[in-house]
Amino acid sequence: MAARLDARWAFRWRTASVPDVDAPADPRSAWDLPAPGTMPRTADLEPLVTRVLAPNPSPMTLDGTNTYLVGAPGSGQAALVDPGPDDAGHLAAVESALAARGARCVAVLVTHHHGDHAEAALPWGARFDAQVAAAGASVAGDGGRVLEPGERLDLAGTSIDVVATPGHTSDHLAFRLESGAVLVGDHVLGRGTSVVTHPEGDVLAYLESLRRVHDLGPSALYCGHGPELTEDPGAVLDFYLAHRAYREHQVLAYLAGRPRTVEELVAAIYADVPRSLWPAAAQSTRAALAKLRAEARVGAEGERFRLA
Ligand SMILES: [Zn+2]
Repeated sequence: MAARLDARWAFRWRTASVPDVDAPADPRSAWDLPAPGTMPRTADLEPLVTRVLAPNPSPMTLDGTNTYLVGAPGSGQAALVDPGPDDAGHLAAVESALAARGARCVAVLVTHHHGDHAEAALPWGARFDAQVAAAGASVAGDGGRVLEPGERLDLAGTSIDVVATPGHTSDHLAFRLESGAVLVGDHVLGRGTSVVTHPEGDVLAYLESLRRVHDLGPSALYCGHGPELTEDPGAVLDFYLAHRAYREHQVLAYLAGRPRTVEELVAAIYADVPRSLWPAAAQSTRAALAKLRAEARVGAEGERFRLA
């Protein structure tokens, strides 16, 4: 109730000081995507790619982490992208998918350091005798390969371009395939929107990374969580950009009413979002405030933020 009252007062202030803006529409709402919890465990997405869904669903990981096997058919090889949690059942499913492709794992690539993507990288790299590659040595491990944005990897009978996509985390990478599809990790999710973590993430870097992937003209986005986005990937990236702008607008609109803490902003802006997601919402809100402070549009008084 308090949040609703707050929202009403903020709306009155907002009309006076910050122009009202409609929330952007998610183009995927009109798409025929699988309902949450109904994605198949293993799916061949295109000749180059098989996806294996890890059994770690949660409000943050959606249906679970998507592990991708990438390799030219007939090459007898595959690179594993985002092995995910070090879970025996998931390993068995990945090994079955490798066997079905007639492939052995020749490399383990990781989009970013979060455990739901990277935990199995080193143990499975050792198990498959495959090199682990990531943006940082802490994920790639001893004997691993530190990837440089812009480099092209020749692996498993195909080529994979390394694309810098910082924002969700500072070490985030995407991988562009020969087919034009892009494996985007947590940069873009199959449902909803992603989190810019704080203090590690960076909203400005995130927006630049969204535009960078947009400029690639991807034929599909294969996300770290949720279904693959094939119908109009550019429209989803446009929506993500508009969504960030809208959240920033909301922060400014609520601060136009009075100074507020992060917790008060989250309660107002995310009133219709399950509370289990509020800690993540608080991180994205702190990241948005950090951008606005860097732009001298918002200032701080102790725990409260105000318009500059
Ligand atoms: Zn992540």
